[in-house]
Amino acid sequence: MLGLMQNQPLLISSLLEHAARHHADTEVVSRTIEGPIHRYTYADLARRTRKLANVLAGLGVQTGDRVATLAWNGFRHLELYYGISSTGAVLHTLNPRLFQDQLVWIANHAEDSYLFFDLTFVPLVETLAPQLKSVKKFVLMTDRAHMPADSKIPDLQCYEDLIEAASEDYEWPQFDENTASSLCYTSGTTGNPKGVLYSHRSNVLEAYGAALPDTLNLSAFDSVMPVVPMFHANSWCLVYACLLTGAKLVLPGKDMDGKSLYELMQAEQVTFAAGVPTIWLLLLQYIEKEGLRFTTLKRTVIGGSACPPAMMRTFQDKYGVTVLHAWGMTEMSPLGSVSTLKYKHKTWAPEKQNELLYKQGRTIYGVDMKIVDDAGKSLPWDGRAFGNLLVKGYWVLRDYYKSEPGSTLQGGWFPTGDVATIDADGYMNITDRTKDVIKSGGEWISSIDLENLAIAHPAVAEAACIAAHHPKWDERPLLVVVKKPNVDLTREEMLKFFEGKIAKWWMPDDVIFVDELPHTATGKLQKLKLREKFKDYKLPTA
Ligand code: ADP
Repeated sequence: MLGLMQNQPLLISSLLEHAARHHADTEVVSRTIEGPIHRYTYADLARRTRKLANVLAGLGVQTGDRVATLAWNGFRHLELYYGISSTGAVLHTLNPRLFQDQLVWIANHAEDSYLFFDLTFVPLVETLAPQLKSVKKFVLMTDRAHMPADSKIPDLQCYEDLIEAASEDYEWPQFDENTASSLCYTSGTTGNPKGVLYSHRSNVLEAYGAALPDTLNLSAFDSVMPVVPMFHANSWCLVYACLLTGAKLVLPGKDMDGKSLYELMQAEQVTFAAGVPTIWLLLLQYIEKEGLRFTTLKRTVIGGSACPPAMMRTFQDKYGVTVLHAWGMTEMSPLGSVSTLKYKHKTWAPEKQNELLYKQGRTIYGVDMKIVDDAGKSLPWDGRAFGNLLVKGYWVLRDYYKSEPGSTLQGGWFPTGDVATIDADGYMNITDRTKDVIKSGGEWISSIDLENLAIAHPAVAEAACIAAHHPKWDERPLLVVVKKPNVDLTREEMLKFFEGKIAKWWMPDDVIFVDELPHTATGKLQKLKLREKFKDYKLPTA
């Protein structure tokens, strides 16, 4: 017997309509590429997005077509997010920080038919255009006044001209909620990038999950600034969850330096911000140097790579900002877990509570996880055993785009490539990526634990721990450190700092000081590059 409830498909257009009807005058504020701050409301967003739908139809965009963007976080990108998916086409967010040949490879693999891009990327698109085989039309996301006089891009269209000429009468079509909505490629740290094809259903459900109190706890009482880019994994779902809850949305554009972010946060009274540790490091350095405070910021979600406990403490103890340590990946739309306390932890001492909060946290309803050994056998949830982390859920990938169907999952579970522990209460702790774990004499050493410790030293700005070859142990930890400006720190002092805090055999065999560490397009440590750089490094213990 079937239930007798309404069966409305979960469509992205419903988020837009909801925000326009129930939060009509809530603002979307953007720092534009052209310079000035732009502000309008959810009602304006919905009106212009309907115009955009007519523009897309006029350009010949068909259901299922991949429409690519090369853009920062801004209102036009937001219109494309909603407009493209809601007409039944597929929004393909390209990551402009990738190498040019990777971008060409990805756009050709996705067979993108249209490309919308920000002013910043005119020179890049001029170079790429001849190699983008399937792209039929190029649209520059700006107004007439900023259109380049003589561009090499064929038949270049102006976004604002198209919007201005379009009618705002448009009815969002209703279709199967499993229809593809958007496409995002992983950055391809190993081999070619892989396409993750989201559906309307997976994105709407994730937005629900993200808004929950134990997840990001978003509400219409918030002013939210996603610093995490919209070209990376749905900017952690915030572009959807803000419309679902009616939160004000503040989009920071291309300027990711501490000063720009801080000023926008203060001006727009941001209560909630999201970013990767590297960007927050810049922000914290800036406000520390200038002796500033956050006056409105209450919470920040940090993820994408492990949030060092020292950073969490600075936010919490010095600035009164609650840090939500989150874990996820492109293949998970990306939210998987967030660390928040349970009722029973209420009476725990703050230090003990922090030990939990430093972890990557509990799963959100909608995602399930387990850890297994190399033979695929489930490992105990005791907070000690660590193994390969597998997930499944409403917004977890089944197959990569154009991959052999059924070639990705293991017995219905997606192997994340992360190594983790899970404790009896379900708190998960990433100890490493499968590729980064240091295997010393067959035993595993967590590179993340060593990095977190190193960063806790007051003279350390950033640290990475990689495996270096050792004739006896096969691999041993090598610590690569960036010092804070104008401070002294020796190899011996660094190693002394580890004494008593880790098992003796986890002690790094050597410390190297460098000026900077390599990062991926999304601000993560690029350990592959580091390993390559130090592949012939001879440890003093070898
Ligand atoms: P890519 O795989 O292209 O680098 P993703 O954003 O999909 O981009 O990366 C997901 C990976 O990032 C996870 O599998 C995990 O290794 C790492 N990661 C994400 N969040 C955290 C976190 N809070 N702590 C540790 N690692 C994290």
